[in-house]
Amino acid sequence: MSDPSSLLAPIRKRVVTYRDHGTPGLHAPQDRARLLGALDKVLAVHEPVDALMNPGRHERVVKVCTGCGTDDGNWQRWPCPTVRAVTAALGEQA
Ligand SMILES: [Zn+2]
Repeated sequence: MSDPSSLLAPIRKRVVTYRDHGTPGLHAPQDRARLLGALDKVLAVHEPVDALMNPGRHERVVKVCTGCGTDDGNWQRWPCPTVRAVTAALGEQA
C-alpha cells in the first residue's frame, strides 16, 4: 500500500503550481474528484452507529464510531478525532 502523503504530493504540487493562475490546471477536475473520493472513503470508515451504554437501569444510547476504538478497548464516541479533524478542516466545529 502506498503512503498517502506520496499520493497527495503530485496533487499538492499542482495546487501550488496553479494557485496564482486565473485558470485551473488540466488535472484540476480529476484532482478534485480523487480528493473528494478519498475523503468520502475516510468518512465511510468513520460512520456513527448507536451503542447501548450501561445496559440496565441507567442505560442510554450513544453514537460511536465504526472505525475507531480507544486504547482501553472501548468504543470511541462519535464524532471521533478523525471526523472532528475533517469537519474542522472544512470549516465547522464538530
Ligand atoms: Zn472514527
